[in-house]
Amino acid sequence: MKLKTGKSQVELLSRHGLGNIYYDHHTQQRSFQATKNIKSGQILYRFGPKQIQANPTYLTVQVGEGQHMVLDPEFLAAINHGCDPNVFFDVDHGVLRSVRDIKAGEQMVYFYPSTEWQMIQPFDCTCGSPKCLGYIQGAHAIEPELIQRYHLSSYIQSQLKEVPTLV
Ligand SMILES: [Zn+2]
Repeated sequence: MKLKTGKSQVELLSRHGLGNIYYDHHTQQRSFQATKNIKSGQILYRFGPKQIQANPTYLTVQVGEGQHMVLDPEFLAAINHGCDPNVFFDVDHGVLRSVRDIKAGEQMVYFYPSTEWQMIQPFDCTCGSPKCLGYIQGAHAIEPELIQRYHLSSYIQSQLKEVPTLV
């Protein structure tokens, strides 16, 4: 039976084993949701560069100075930012890892500044976590003490060492 109203705003786009991609017609955003309970510390997917480009887009992941990876497989780009991440893009080893236990149905989120030094499209985060940092613009704008609590790429770690300590 079809109802006039109540049409689902969230549509399943594709399935990828441990996760499904959904599209929310209201927010017009994709999201990546776990289909199974996942323990912390697991390798969920392996990825490589489809290409490395000099300029970032909202879909690329930074791997070095002026080096931005277009992900292969592309579907991993559907994983959104969260200030309390449950996955980490380990660009040094080409693996997506769980960094805490994830429940089936939970959205997989990663901390953009864990790979992005300076984002071209900063935004006001609405992740809803008590740990939410608010305006997200890349690792360069976060207190070193705070960002060290996160898993970080070797590039971000090397950048943090070069930044003079704020007094
Ligand atoms: Zn947030």
